[in-house]
Amino acid sequence: MLRSVKAGGQVMEYELVQTARASVELRVLPDGVRVFAPKTFPLRQADAFVRERADWIREARARLDGYKAREESRFPMTEGMPVPVEGRTYALRLLKAASRSGRIEGGSVVLRGPDLSPEAVREQLRDFLFDRAKERLMERLNQYMPLIGRSPGRVTVREQRTKWGSCSGQGNLNFNWKLIMAPPEALDYVVIHELCHLYEFNHSPKFWARVAKYQPDYETWRDFLRSGWAHPYN
Ligand SMILES: [Zn+2]
Repeated sequence: MLRSVKAGGQVMEYELVQTARASVELRVLPDGVRVFAPKTFPLRQADAFVRERADWIREARARLDGYKAREESRFPMTEGMPVPVEGRTYALRLLKAASRSGRIEGGSVVLRGPDLSPEAVREQLRDFLFDRAKERLMERLNQYMPLIGRSPGRVTVREQRTKWGSCSGQGNLNFNWKLIMAPPEALDYVVIHELCHLYEFNHSPKFWARVAKYQPDYETWRDFLRSGWAHPYN
């Protein structure tokens, strides 16, 4: 539920997400402010919760905006921009053409298309990387499934803001397409991690021991993914 409160002469919007939980949590995210609260939490109390933290929210937002601006200048979606793909860095090349296509040629990711504005390029590059992510994730799954000895139900590759992968109670796996911009070992780590959840639906020592069996240096890649490494779609 979208709500707005007045704080310090300014209107502040936030989204109230009420779920079966016991505590109240406030998060400032790139797409807005979100308050997670118990189902029975009074709306007025939620408003007050945000109002009391207005200064802190403004500061957190300013930090996020600054971070975004720095990332955008680093990845400007124009000719020559560095594009990380599977642990290598390619230079973006843009060529006018009647129809859209994308491929890796030598040290470049070459995108051809009628619209080469930064917005269109951002979308086209995402589509290109998304397709490659699907291909590579399926390939790696097929490699590890017989080794690990379990097969998932449905496998989905999609856009996820924070998670790299997940496993549902029904044994369906989800993967974040952005993994294609990480080193191959990091992508493998997530594939192995999720496949191992088909045995252990937890993060117990037994689970990690199983992961280590297939990737002895998995901690390196787990830490890498947790480190918030820079890429054009942060
Ligand atoms: Zn896990």
